[in-house]
Amino acid sequence: MRREIYLDNSATTAVLPETAELMHTIYVEEYGNPSSTHHKGVEAERRLRTAKKTLAGILGCSEKNLIFTSCGTESDNLALIGAARAHCRRGKHLVTTMIEHPAILETTKYLESEGFEVTYLPVDNSGLVSPQQVAEAVRSDTILVSVMHINNEIGAVEPVAEIGKAIKEKNPETLFHVDAVQSFCKAQICPGKMNIDLLSASGHKIHAPKGIGLLYIGDRVRIRNIIFGGGQQGGMRSGTENVAGIAGMAFSAQKLYRNLDQELEKLYTLKQCLIDQVLEIPEVYVNGKTGTESAPHVISLSVKGVRAEVLLHALEDKGIYVSAGSACASNRPHVSETLKAIGLPKELLDSTIRISLSIFNTQEDIDDTAAALKEIIPFLRRYTRS
Ligand code: PLP
Repeated sequence: MRREIYLDNSATTAVLPETAELMHTIYVEEYGNPSSTHHKGVEAERRLRTAKKTLAGILGCSEKNLIFTSCGTESDNLALIGAARAHCRRGKHLVTTMIEHPAILETTKYLESEGFEVTYLPVDNSGLVSPQQVAEAVRSDTILVSVMHINNEIGAVEPVAEIGKAIKEKNPETLFHVDAVQSFCKAQICPGKMNIDLLSASGHKIHAPKGIGLLYIGDRVRIRNIIFGGGQQGGMRSGTENVAGIAGMAFSAQKLYRNLDQELEKLYTLKQCLIDQVLEIPEVYVNGKTGTESAPHVISLSVKGVRAEVLLHALEDKGIYVSAGSACASNRPHVSETLKAIGLPKELLDSTIRISLSIFNTQEDIDDTAAALKEIIPFLRRYTRS
């Protein structure tokens, strides 16, 4: 079989084999409904409790602060719509940034259609929003601020702890939501210590399956449910719990979190090594910050004179998988709002690929990818410029 190098880990990750094994056991043996009162139900309920305990330990919170959803998108929707509906009498203003994932930006668009007002903050050319900018945008009627922790396209790491502090100093009643889908288990995040009221995470970005998400809801934070039904999870998210997915998410999270410092060091080393090699190619640029000021796993590369789609497929021919801009939203071609927001020159908007690493990647993957880029880029340039 041809060797494959998977470098699209911000889109999704491979499930850890041990996680898949655990989930298999739950699917075929411990398949009870956690709401059932017989043994099978109790067994499933125990799986839920164990998973919650693990995830609460990672986030440094109580188990009662956690709600399971179907994905990061649902967590983001529940946080924003749930908070907006619960606090609309106090105010109708929200603040976010121009580089959020569509799970946030499409939700704020929906809220605008419902009569809410949204301020979209610009970012600097590294993709960063400053705590002062956020504080200046917060008003007495601002009910919620939503800022992502790690940007999915360029790997910018937003200063969420400082932003949380600035928000609460300006208006202690304003809720702070953090989309941590790209940072959970890839950076330290502790909502209780960072003035974060709501935090979203997703299983499939951390070597757990698709179809499972998490929302942290701080103590005394009031939001309304957006799904109605049998009243599971205290009525906050009705629907029979995805027990295998929940257990799988907790298991993978624990595995990653246990060796987090070591894994991060490895990822930063691999990332820097790839950057050093690709910057030897003329007119190739790395977007955003590098080193530990950036995400450990995301590299955004602009390649002058080569269309991203063409480069992506040329790499694919060699068994190397990357994405053009951000492929995690949909397969509709679109110009990236994030790349526009960081002021990338027009001619590079369509020439930017995202390479995203995981703990499974090796030095050999990096060297082979760099060698492939060194071979392909001059070839494609000759082809497109002739
Ligand atoms: N938020 C960010 C920052 C993301 O990168 C993604 C997915 O790529 C999401 C939200 C949506 O997560 P999910 O795919 O689990 O719905």
